[in-house]
This record gives sequence, C-alpha cells and structure tokens, in this order.
Amino acid sequence: MQNRTARSQRPIRVLHVAAEIFPFVKTGGLADVVGSLPRALARSGCDLRLLLPGFAPILDALKNPRKIGEFGPLFGAGQIRLLQGTLDDSAIKVIVIDSPWLYRRSGGPYLDEQGHEWPDNLQRFALLGWVAAHLASGEFTPNWLADVIHAHDWHAALACCYLKAHPTIRARSVLTVHNLAYQGVFPVQDFSQLGLPRHYAEPFGELEFHGELSFMKGGLMSATHITTVSPSYAREITTPKFGCRMEGVLAQRADAMSGILNGIDTEVWNPSTDREIAARFSTDDLSGKRECKLALQSEFGLTPKADAPLIGVVSRLSAQKGLDLLRDALAQIVQSGMQLVLLGSGEPDIQADFRAAAAAHPKQIGVQIGYDEKLAHRIIAGADLIAVPSRFEPCGLTQLYGMRYGTLPLVRRVGGLADTVDAETGFSFIEPQTSLANTLQTALETYRNAPARWQAMMQAAMRRDFGWDTAARQYMALYSRLCERAAAP
Ligand code: ADP
Repeated sequence: MQNRTARSQRPIRVLHVAAEIFPFVKTGGLADVVGSLPRALARSGCDLRLLLPGFAPILDALKNPRKIGEFGPLFGAGQIRLLQGTLDDSAIKVIVIDSPWLYRRSGGPYLDEQGHEWPDNLQRFALLGWVAAHLASGEFTPNWLADVIHAHDWHAALACCYLKAHPTIRARSVLTVHNLAYQGVFPVQDFSQLGLPRHYAEPFGELEFHGELSFMKGGLMSATHITTVSPSYAREITTPKFGCRMEGVLAQRADAMSGILNGIDTEVWNPSTDREIAARFSTDDLSGKRECKLALQSEFGLTPKADAPLIGVVSRLSAQKGLDLLRDALAQIVQSGMQLVLLGSGEPDIQADFRAAAAAHPKQIGVQIGYDEKLAHRIIAGADLIAVPSRFEPCGLTQLYGMRYGTLPLVRRVGGLADTVDAETGFSFIEPQTSLANTLQTALETYRNAPARWQAMMQAAMRRDFGWDTAARQYMALYSRLCERAAAP
C-alpha cells in the first residue's frame, strides 16, 4: 500500500532499452522510433531514462558523461562502465554501457562489414538486458528505480527474462516488437552463459525455440505486456502467415498484447523547414515541391519533366519489402512514361536487377545503392508517389514521411501500411483482389486525368497528423495500467 501511495505522488519511471537511436546508430525504423518516442513520453510527464549499448557513435556523442557504475568481468568483457549523460537538448538521461570489448568496433550494430552476424551477439545483447534489469533493481541508481522496463526488439528482450526470473524486483516490463522476423537465435549450448534458471532453456521454456535459444521468444514469454508498432500487425502475427513461427507463443499471450501505431518526428520530416531539400513547401503553397522534383530528376539524370509521374523508393532491399513486385512492374513503368528513383541496399539480386534497369533506361530510372539519410529526404520530397509494396510491414515509416511531403503512398495493404494509408491519401493493393500493376495504373490515370483529385489527395495526406502525441498517450495509459496492477493488493 505504501508503494502504491508513493508511486501515485510522482511520475511513472520508465527505462527504455534499445540498440539503435537516430541519428547515431540506425539500421531501420527502430532507430527513428527510439530517437523520438522518448521525447514525446517525457513531454507527457513520464520520468524516463534510456539505456543503450556503447557503440562508438553513441559514446562519442554522449554529453557530460558521469560514471554511475563499474563492474566485470561479465559476458566476456573485462571491465564495464555505466556512463550517464545526454544525447540532445531534451535533457533525457541516457545511460550507455561502455564496454569497448563488446561494442566498439567498425561494422554495423549486429553484423560485421561482410554482413555476417557478430559471433558474440549473444553476449553483447545479453549484457544489455542484464544491465536493464539491474538498473530496475536500483543497483546502480538507488534513487531511481524503474516502474517499467520498456524493451525494444530482440536486442533488448532479455531484460524481460532477467526481470521475470528475479524473485523480488517489482518492475513491470513491456516488449515492443518492431519486426518479428528478427528473433535473436543462438545455440542452446550457450545458455549457461546467461545466468538464467535452467528451465528457461528446456522444451517449452521461455527461451527454447525449436531446439535453439531465441531472445525474442524469451521476451514474448516473459514481458508483462507486448506491443507491436501497429494494430494490424498485432493481429497478423497471431497467424502462421505472418507469425514467423512465433504464432503459437503469441496466441498464449493474446490477452497481454496490443498495437500502438508509430508516429514520426515531425521536425526532422517537415517540408516547410527541411534544409536538405531544393525548396520548401506546404499545403498552402505546393510550388516548392515542383522544384524538388526537377532537382531530383536532374540529380539522377532523368528527363526533367514536371509532368512525368515519378515514383520514389527508399528502402532496405530485403524480401520483406516486396521490391521484386516493383521490379516485375518496371516494363509497365517505362512504357507508360513514368519515372522511378530508388535508394536502398540489401540483397545482391535485387540491387543488380534495379541497376540493370537503370542502365537500360537512364532517362526514366535512377538507382543509388547505399544508405544516405539526406538523399532520402530529397527523394521523399521530390517524388509524386512513394512505393512500399511490402509483404509484411510492422508499421513502416516511409509512407508516413511521404504523406507529410504530399508524396502519395502506393502500398500493399498489410500491417501498418493498412492502418495509415486510405483511399483519400494514397493507393493500396492486396492480392488476389488487386495487383501492384493494376494499382500503378490507377495511380497513373489519377495523376494524368484527375489533377484536382491528385492535389486534393496530396493535401489530405499532408494534413494527416502522424506526430508522436497519440502514441505517447497510449503508452502512458499502458504504463499506468501495468503499475496499478502491480500495486494492487
Ligand atoms: P524498416 O525498419 O523495416 O527498414 P521502416 O519504414 O520502418 O522500415 O524504416 C526505415 C527507415 O530507414 C526510414 O527512416 C527510411 O527513410 C530509412 N531508410 C531505409 N533505407 C534507407 C537508405 N537506403 N538510405 C536512407 N534511409 C533509409
């Protein structure tokens, strides 16, 4: 009872745990979310801290670092320090795990420069979860005990396991699934390194997954509550088609699962202030968008025609993103006089196919293989359509960025794409009712034959509010519910 009174007199304390944060370490939408959701939660009155691994760009950017803990050896690392500081002007306290042995190396956060998983990923991300649980226990910050640990994706999921395994820590846990296809799977022989109770690795145990260990499954089984980044994705992943072999686990947890749609950073993605693009524009004055389009056509060597419908793609080139469907529509795009600009990297086959198409039709197709945040802005601003034909899409951010810039999404009606794009703001398809080719044709006809309708759609899309406040309110309500339940006698 005393606990409950104490809690009700102060803001909820939430420790967010993640492996990526924009603009320092980013492989996808997770980084964008971690870069902006905490600020929205802090504005909503949440007392929030953020725990991150000490990748070089994060440690190097940490302002006013102060050591709050030192321990080791653990998970193969000799000495580990916890540093607390800030990363931006928001004053959100960021705790970084400084372990050069585990985190400071060239290459990506999960993969080496050749694209192979780091061989010590089990230790690297077990440490992240371990530290989160110890922070929640007050071990390093005795004056700040988390009420809720909010773990993002498999990288942080073990936090939920360590919390559940401890007999006395009262903190609740939320696991947000940003993409169920990535599950953090490791050999069962490595289990003894984790320091978790034996039964976690036994058949039907929290971590056991088809004879191996899965951090994602551990989190799904152990979290007090699971969220996904859109309501449709929350429903879809309980089915074999979208469940990535976790549908059985998720069915068991159906009562503790919900979808909260992602927002976007409306300051980073704002056509009326964006300094990365050729000209600024707004719903009241769209003339700058035409300049952005001509600049984009010129940058890619395409025919500079303001009335050639231009499709943009900014994407990882993985099977998930369905770009093979767009590749199959390239002949249609070329024959109908449309243009295409693609920025992305990933599977060599898809890269090669789009490169070959650009070589064959240099005035209509432009391709840039790689990762380029600024170019992403120029494409989103300059294109007429943004294509996101994903096979599955937990939320998807590029269609939201597109809408903010009056670039109409052309999407497959799945997951977050289904939840964010409607007939007033874009074009969508789902087989067998319609195909990408048919929908492309509909978009083309609307563009050519119904310019007033197109402009109305652009303005409707630009007026949609995809800021973080709605999501922040929903997360706050969830945290409150979980804390009330924890405090109930
Ligand atoms: P996912 O996380 O599955 O990759 P999302 O749509 O949720 O997909 O988020 C992707 C994020 O990564 C967006 O911010 C998008 O602009 C960005 N992005 C993807 N590929 C590239 C690229 N090649 N260059 C720049 N930004 C990219």
